[in-house]
Amino acid sequence: MRWLALDNDAGRPKGLRYGVGIVALAAVSVAQPFRAAVTAQNGPDWSNVEDETMRHYQALLRIDTVAKERPAAEYIKQVLDENGIPAQIYALEPDRPNVVARLKGNGKKKPLLIMGHTDVVPVDPVKWKFPPFSATRDGGWVYGRGTIDDKDNTTAGLMTMLLLKRLNVPLDRDVILLNEAGEDSASRLGIQFMIAQHFPDIDAEYCLAEGGNVTRERGKAQYAEIQTMEKIPRGIELTAHGISGHGSIPLKSNAIVHLATAVGKVGEWRPDIKLNETTGTYFRRLASIAPPEQAKYYRDIVSPDPKVSRAADDWLLENEPRHDSMLRTSVSPNIFTGGYRSNVIPSEAKATLDVRMLPDDDPAAFLEQIKKVINDPAIDVRYSSTAGERGKTAVASLDSEAFKAVESAVMKIYDVVTLPTMSTGATDMAQLRAKGVQCFGIGPATDMEDGPKGFGSHSDQERLLESELHRFVRFNWDVVTSLARAR
Ligand SMILES: [Zn+2]
Repeated sequence: MRWLALDNDAGRPKGLRYGVGIVALAAVSVAQPFRAAVTAQNGPDWSNVEDETMRHYQALLRIDTVAKERPAAEYIKQVLDENGIPAQIYALEPDRPNVVARLKGNGKKKPLLIMGHTDVVPVDPVKWKFPPFSATRDGGWVYGRGTIDDKDNTTAGLMTMLLLKRLNVPLDRDVILLNEAGEDSASRLGIQFMIAQHFPDIDAEYCLAEGGNVTRERGKAQYAEIQTMEKIPRGIELTAHGISGHGSIPLKSNAIVHLATAVGKVGEWRPDIKLNETTGTYFRRLASIAPPEQAKYYRDIVSPDPKVSRAADDWLLENEPRHDSMLRTSVSPNIFTGGYRSNVIPSEAKATLDVRMLPDDDPAAFLEQIKKVINDPAIDVRYSSTAGERGKTAVASLDSEAFKAVESAVMKIYDVVTLPTMSTGATDMAQLRAKGVQCFGIGPATDMEDGPKGFGSHSDQERLLESELHRFVRFNWDVVTSLARAR
């Protein structure tokens, strides 16, 4: 585990601290003796916890929450209420509510927010071996829509809240649970609504949400990806203006020709590579665990010598485009429109560029760069909306207490390397980051072999190993207690 020592000082010893505070408390925690028993030495009695975890997990999976989250929200609220944790429902639309619950700490530190969304993406039932909302247990797996997106996080967060309450763990900070609606298609009802209208109820220093995972291969955990930042989506619109005319007389000002040239230039353009703390660490650590042929490119890409990094950049673009997108603000021309009759030269043509900006890039300066690359006064270049124009977003620091807690828990529970990642797509965490909350994307271990078999998130089928659900609950517990337990 040398890479840990090289990259920062977070390491194994921290993991050993867990449970110490709980030992003293366990003796007095008798409020609900019929629930998961507590052993004086080890914190929760995990074998009892597992039965309860599975019960809530299956109950949530059996609720069809495709664009109708209310029954799941009510289920969670009821479980919390029964356990003495007052929960509140917030809804912009009655059928699609969010649930919030809070365990009070002594206020020494700012709160920790645990998130999990209750909505799931639609299903095509004929493609499922077991009905998609049956939560069937078979051969060590649980099958169902939402098993890994996101009723795993939802269940783990719920169990952590219940255990904190039951064990009466004293807290240095409030622990807030948010189960939001609409993550996959209607965040205006979920995170957007909560931030716009109820931000004080979820405001936190740190948040944990979906967006990471532990990769298993041949049945063994290999590495954990923890999302610490994400790119910011921006659209740029190119509008070419020319003189209209008869198609029989070609014109030098032809808007379609100008636009095509402009799109060609930006499509070929590769903005400068800009690594940050997360991506630099990601590639260095990946190099330490990858097969030698690939490791060479991961090492080269962080090289200060542009000749070396350029060759690796070329290889990544060709072979691992997701990795290449992590290197820079990316531009992908995705819409091209112009013309309406074959014999008419149109006076206008438009293209839309999908820009995924590095969080620390300056939008105005980037727009100027695009204009320079295009270098054609006949083309108007502007952002297509002001969305995403939120200025600086909080990036979860690898030096933070929270990242170190996550990394220690990964080491303790999974015994693997943590790769901090920057997501190229956007998540619900983006809006919290824009409000200054440092967010970490986490997730349970899944088999690398499972994706290609069609069991990934949003796939025709979805499943999670029971053992990995339980391991993920223990991981959650470790991270949360390490960050919130009073010292
Ligand atoms: Zn999700």
